[in-house]
Amino acid sequence: MTDRYALIGHPVGHSKSPLIHGLFAQATAQDLTYTAIEAPLDGFADTLASFRASGGRGTNVTVPFKLQAFELSTDPSETARLAGAANTLKFVDDRIHADNTDGVGLVNDLQRNLGHRLAGKRVLLLGAGGATRGAILPIAAEHPALFAVANRTAARAHALRSAFAAHTVLQTGGLDELQGESFDVIINATSAGLTQSALPLPDSIFAPGALAYDMVYGKGLTPFLRQARAAGVSTLADGVGMLVEQAAESFTIWRGVRPDTRAVIERLTVPLV
Ligand code: NAP
Repeated sequence: MTDRYALIGHPVGHSKSPLIHGLFAQATAQDLTYTAIEAPLDGFADTLASFRASGGRGTNVTVPFKLQAFELSTDPSETARLAGAANTLKFVDDRIHADNTDGVGLVNDLQRNLGHRLAGKRVLLLGAGGATRGAILPIAAEHPALFAVANRTAARAHALRSAFAAHTVLQTGGLDELQGESFDVIINATSAGLTQSALPLPDSIFAPGALAYDMVYGKGLTPFLRQARAAGVSTLADGVGMLVEQAAESFTIWRGVRPDTRAVIERLTVPLV
């Protein structure tokens, strides 16, 4: 019987997930369907329950329901628990397993696809929202020499230092406190790129040979990537690889088979111009 999976979000019309999971299923010969379901803003729990009752095996969850997905789960992973958010649900009998695969997807893209090992590097995450929360544990697990989080609202970055204190030492502060600091891997996890807004960043943050990575994808050269290039950075990447890698992690959780990601990333890549 064909197994059913879905993405639940609001909106979902723009989502690439049905295409990505369709390609994964084809490549791994898995008998499944994957659709996008737009839940009413006040109707996530009902939408999830009815998909599950109709035989659904699992879901991805996107904005704005990742926190609710975590709250409704019965068996969250450590990453989901610390992020306080889940993007992957798997239904097992009467249990709901939850995970957050965004951060692992990011680290896989950085290390496997882009060839930038994080061990011993100075890593800066810009932003303190859900994407940053999900990325902290997977990045910390690679043992960077220095791990910093800077956010427009400094207090939100400081709150992360406390929340993750048992797992890693974070250097935290505001975007306006980065003058004179220097990093090897700079990841923009703010949503500023979605509105083409620039961040007030000093050129000093980009060390020679640095990688500048914007989690936003499909928008070409974002203001952050343009800033990095103007500061002399030659290795630039957007979040398309993260998108495909987080999907591959979800697929593996559901099916126990890891799909190859390279061809799918190539298919979805928009040139950075
Ligand atoms: P979120 O929880 O809403 O957090 C947004 C963050 O962006 C906050 O830290 C906010 O700072 C900051 N911000 C927003 N506008 C800003 C501006 N104009 N200047 C400076 N900072 C600004 O969002 P999220 O879920 O973490 O997602 C962040 C980004 O990652 C989004 O663009 C999303 O599309 C992307 N993402 C990509 C993938 C992928 O697979 N490639 C996966 C997940 C997320 P304040 O705290 O000061 O408000």
